[in-house]
Amino acid sequence: MIAIIGAGIAGLSLGLALSQRGATVTVLEADRVASGASGVATSYLEPRLGNTAMRALEREAMRRWPHYAAQLEEETGMSIGFRQDGQIKVSLQEYKSKLDKDLTLRTSQQETFKQLSGDDIRRMEPSLSPDLIAGAFLPDVCWVNGRDVCQALAVAIEKSGGMVVENDAVSSLQFRTGGVEISMQHGSVIGVEKTVLCAGIAASEIDGLPDDIPASRAVRGVNLVVDQTGLSQPITHLIKHHRGNLCPRENGQLIVGTTYESDQWSLDPTPEIIEFLYQNADSILPSVRDLPLLKVTAGLRSKVGDGNLRLGCSEEQPQLFYSLSHGGAGFLRAPVIGDELAEFVLKGVKGPLTRHHTHG
Ligand SMILES: Cc1cc2nc3c(=O)[nH]c(=O)nc-3n(C[C@H](O)[C@H](O)[C@H](O)COP(=O)(O)OP(=O)(O)OC[C@H]3O[C@@H](n4cnc5c(N)ncnc54)[C@H](O)[C@@H]3O)c2cc1C
Repeated sequence: MIAIIGAGIAGLSLGLALSQRGATVTVLEADRVASGASGVATSYLEPRLGNTAMRALEREAMRRWPHYAAQLEEETGMSIGFRQDGQIKVSLQEYKSKLDKDLTLRTSQQETFKQLSGDDIRRMEPSLSPDLIAGAFLPDVCWVNGRDVCQALAVAIEKSGGMVVENDAVSSLQFRTGGVEISMQHGSVIGVEKTVLCAGIAASEIDGLPDDIPASRAVRGVNLVVDQTGLSQPITHLIKHHRGNLCPRENGQLIVGTTYESDQWSLDPTPEIIEFLYQNADSILPSVRDLPLLKVTAGLRSKVGDGNLRLGCSEEQPQLFYSLSHGGAGFLRAPVIGDELAEFVLKGVKGPLTRHHTHG
C-alpha cells in the first residue's frame, strides 16, 4: 500500500495516477479535501513565458488539461468548472509599454494571441473600464474550479479502489526495513510500503522526517469573491491586468485577486489587504465595489529554497517520496506531475522532473 499525506491537488492528482496504474492508495488528510491552498486557488491554467524545461512542461500540461478535465468529469459525473473561454490581457495607458514588451516576447515564442484595442476589449467585456487602451486575447488559457477538481479527484480515487481519509493528521513517521509506520493524531498507526509527502506548507511539521526533506516558506494569496450576477454584462473571460486578475466562476461569482505576500502566514487578511485588492481592481472594473462581497479567501502557496518544484525521493529514507513547492502553479502542472511521480514511485523511472527537481 502507498499512503499519500495531504489531499490537495498534489496528493490527489498523484493518488489518481497511482490508482490508475493498479496501486492500492490511501490519501490521509488532516482536515477536509482541499482545505489548504488548493481550496482557495484561482486555478487558471496558463504557462509562463520562457524557454526553460519547466515552461515546456507547463505548455504540455495545458495541452493535456482539456482531456484530463473531460475524463475526470466523465468518471465521476461531477463538474469541475473547466472553462476554455480564454484570457483577455488588458492595459491602462501607464502599463502600455509593459504590454508591448510582453506581446513582443509572445510573438518571438510563437504564442497564439490577438492584439486588441480598448474598443475591442469593451466589445468583448462591456463592463470593463473605458480607460483601458489596449490588450490581447489569449484563446488557449483555461481555468477550473480548484475545489471542485479536488472533490472529483477524491471521488475518482475511491471509485478506482483507493481511500481518502479526512479529519486525522499524520503526526509522525517511523522508517522500518521495507516500510513506514505512520502515526496518526487520533492514535492509530498505519503500516505502508511507501509514503508520499504532499502536505504543502505544513509538511515539515510532521515528526520523524529525514534531514533531506526541506522546509517550506509561505507566499500568501488573498482573493475577494464577489457576486457579479447584478452586472448587466457579467465578466465571461479571465481578465489579467498588471495589478491582478478577475476570474468568473460558473455560479455567478467573480474572483478578484490576487496578492503575493512573502512570509505572511495568517489566513485572516487585514482590511488594508482587502482595500488593496479593491484598489487594484477598480481601475479595471469600475463597478467592483458595488458588487456584493461574498467572502475573502486566503491560502498559503508553498515554496522551498529558490521556489522550484521539489519532486522525488529522500536519499536517507528511500520509502519516502515528496511532491512539494508547487508555488503558484500546482493546478496548471498537475496532469503532468501526477503521471511522472506515479511512474517514479512505482517503478523508479525518473522523468525530466524527478531528475531535475530533486534537492539531493
Ligand atoms: C490565492 C491563490 C491563487 C492561486 N492561483 C493559482 C492558479 O491560478 N493556478 C495554479 O495552478 N495554482 C494556483 N495557486 C497555487 C496552488 O493553489 C498550489 O500550487 C496548490 O494548491 C498546491 O497544492 P498542494 O497539494 O501542494 O498543497 P495544499 O493544497 O496546501 O494541500 C496540502 C494538504 O495537506 C494537508 N496536510 C497538511 N499537513 C498534514 C498532515 N500532517 N497530515 C495530513 N494532511 C496534512 C492540508 O490540510 C492540505 O489539505 C494559487 C494559490 C493561491 C493561494
